[in-house]
Amino acid sequence: MRNLKEVETIVVKVGTSTLTYENGRLNLRRIEILVRVLSDLQNAGKHVILVSSGAIGVGWQVMGLDHRPNTVPEKQAAAAIGQPQLMSIYENFFRKYNQKNAQILLTHMVIDDPQMHENAINTLSALLDYKVIPIVNENDTVVTDEIRVGDNDTLSAYIAQMVKADLLILLTDIDGFYNSNPSCNPDAKFISEVMKITKEIESMAGDSASDLGTGGMRTKLIAAKIAHSVGTKTIIMNGESPENIYRVLEGDIIGTYFD
Ligand code: ADP
Repeated sequence: MRNLKEVETIVVKVGTSTLTYENGRLNLRRIEILVRVLSDLQNAGKHVILVSSGAIGVGWQVMGLDHRPNTVPEKQAAAAIGQPQLMSIYENFFRKYNQKNAQILLTHMVIDDPQMHENAINTLSALLDYKVIPIVNENDTVVTDEIRVGDNDTLSAYIAQMVKADLLILLTDIDGFYNSNPSCNPDAKFISEVMKITKEIESMAGDSASDLGTGGMRTKLIAAKIAHSVGTKTIIMNGESPENIYRVLEGDIIGTYFD
């Protein structure tokens, strides 16, 4: 059963498909609404952490490429260029709402290494104490396959674990979890609540249908499982209208809830 009125610490992950238009350029209107909602929740006394993709998408346009980069060095260059640009856009919007923010870039090493893990937890908790909204991403510029988390769904679940979040919200380009991928099956049925991620549920999750997305529902289920292991609830919902986050917290049946 959903009971989200009392949640205090919320991790919100936003995917590239939510942050950008189909042409790959940033959807500033949506980003601004998201920033306003997160700042407002913070004002209301919640602790908020944002996990944001989008750096490579911003970077390749600045590089003047007419397509997303394919090679690793090109992708890492695009991330190096795009990450500060994306942060600057967030910062400008957050400043408008008098909300401070900070950047945290992680790799899998930080999750695996006990010392680094503890440092990251302490930093995140200090930021939350100072009422700062941390904006987290994988450190794409230096990451290699060996130390890559690989997708921000999983990364956001690790963050939820670190801060003992009450709720993980995965904003995406679809209303939630269906019993098969609606991009391939027009008869797919919406599932509003998953009490346990069974093998059957896992078999319903497909990959991303878009060029922009990465993990599809597979990585979102992995994230929900990691979150569940520490008692964090997960909502997968459409990021089209970030104001719906208020409705979710008020108990409206929006998105798919994972207990
Ligand atoms: P994001 O960039 O927001 O992480 P993704 O493209 O990675 O988005 O994931 C969302 C996509 O997952 C949906 O648009 C859909 O094409 C795909 N998908 C695969 N299986 C399912 C499913 N069972 N229910 C809903 N969407 C699914």
